[in-house]
Amino acid sequence: MSECIFCRIVRGEIPCRKVYEDEDMLAFHDINPWAPVHVLIIPKQHIVSLATADASNQAVLGKILARTGDIARSQGLNDGFRTVINSGRIGNQEVYHLHLHILGGPEPLGGSLKPMTKK
Ligand code: AMP
Ligand code: ZN
Repeated sequence: MSECIFCRIVRGEIPCRKVYEDEDMLAFHDINPWAPVHVLIIPKQHIVSLATADASNQAVLGKILARTGDIARSQGLNDGFRTVINSGRIGNQEVYHLHLHILGGPEPLGGSLKPMTKK
């Protein structure tokens, strides 16, 4: 069994505040939000990173992007949002299970959301 924290969330071994789920993907609130609304969307399948993804991952990655607007609106983000995918060492990726951050709130977002002190 994978020790990956997001695989464990998919299996229900670690709780999450779920906002959307289907057979291929899961969306839940980030535990340490960078913005008033901060949701993560992950593929249920363990894909390490956008840096390693390939054509075999095309369907689920397309599906995640195609559902992003609906998931954002379900959280009240009716006037836009930001998406971020951190990839690999240079991207400061911390969890090596591909995830898309949805960030938003009532006011326009600032320029740099992720604290620079986070390695
Ligand atoms: P990244 O730096 O792009 O890899 O982002 C990883 C994100 O996962 C961070 O924003 C963390 O706060 C978030 N995170 C880590 N563990 C959990 C968890 N158990 N539930 C929800 N979010 C988490
Ligand atoms: Zn995983």
